[in-house]
Amino acid sequence: MIPYGRQDIRDEDVAAVAAVLRSDWLTQGPALPRFEEAVAARCGARHAVAANSATSALHLACLALDLKLGERLWTTPNTFVASANCGRYCGAAVDFVDIGRDSLNLDPAALADKLEQADKAGKLPKVVVAVDFAGQSCNMAALRLLANRYGFRLIEDASHAIGGRYQGQPVGDGRHADITVFSFHPVKIITTGEGGMALCHDAELAARMARLRSHGIVRNAAAQAAEGPWYYEQVELGFNYRMTDMQAALGLSQLARLDDYVAARRRLADRYDRLLAGLPLQTPWRDPEAESAWHLYVIRLDDAVLARPGRRAVFEYLRAAGIGVNVHYIPVHLQPDYRRFGFAPGDFPVAEDYYARALTLPLYPGLSDAGQDRVVAALREALA
Ligand SMILES: *Cc1c(COP(=O)(O)O)cnc(C)c1O
Repeated sequence: MIPYGRQDIRDEDVAAVAAVLRSDWLTQGPALPRFEEAVAARCGARHAVAANSATSALHLACLALDLKLGERLWTTPNTFVASANCGRYCGAAVDFVDIGRDSLNLDPAALADKLEQADKAGKLPKVVVAVDFAGQSCNMAALRLLANRYGFRLIEDASHAIGGRYQGQPVGDGRHADITVFSFHPVKIITTGEGGMALCHDAELAARMARLRSHGIVRNAAAQAAEGPWYYEQVELGFNYRMTDMQAALGLSQLARLDDYVAARRRLADRYDRLLAGLPLQTPWRDPEAESAWHLYVIRLDDAVLARPGRRAVFEYLRAAGIGVNVHYIPVHLQPDYRRFGFAPGDFPVAEDYYARALTLPLYPGLSDAGQDRVVAALREALA
């Protein structure tokens, strides 16, 4: 079976994790700040706060931005559920903004329209979560202009996009987003097993996220002087969202190969573009402003294929042939747990039309040319 994504673990990764296991600190030790500082430096952010998943990091980001009960968070329907759920963890109402036909990312024009309506109704969002789908940055400059105009905070869910660039600068540099979040799940660009990170420029936001990651507890020198050296205070309700030092050591070791990984993914994506030319499908759109990290290579099947044999038959043919294709994403508003808020088919037609024809082909640094040729040959048969 050729999977759709796969981690790359080398001897040096194993050695880095083993060294932590033999050390005094399995968690809250020196590897974690080293990993945070390395990611921040690599991406051009002042601060980075690691967490035990990107889901946790998104929750921390919403909390740090003071998203509260009854307020609003908007995101794209073309994402993993975590980009929306983070709002609900805070008691906020979640709504969606349709995607652009080319970019497949939250469409700034659709957002501008929805904001104008919401402004009149006095129902503006507090937070907008933009997702760099498949590893290609959103139009962050346009989103920043709208954030400034309407006063919402902007989270970039860059779970797919570490190592990507936007307008020549690394994703995560925080020129446009208030907080950028990465995921280190094994199918993503670099991995810590489970893990995530939130990057920002604002020292107060970073300190708040770090505090909320560990129960909302602070150790304050003045209070310790008064009460005793053991003293700590819980100043707000936090969580245990900490990343272990084993994970941080793995992440640090993986980070050294980030550029190689993205280059390998880009080479394979370019090769797919060539191999798939002439088939009844659309290959990914390339934004001239962005260099994708190529988390996913998503094709869109033409209408003729949808009519016969149909996306499902193509999917099942490929799976039976040992090709681990996938579909990203079922529009979040169509999940049963979102439909109960009143969302229904037809609400976000661009995302729904895209979903009906989407197919994710295998893409990961260890995919060989021969393996990729097998994928394309099987796809040709499925479409024949
Ligand atoms: C993977 C993913 C997440 C969640 O990441 P975890 O680290 O698994 O919690 C969030 N958003 C997007 C867009 C993702 O792809």
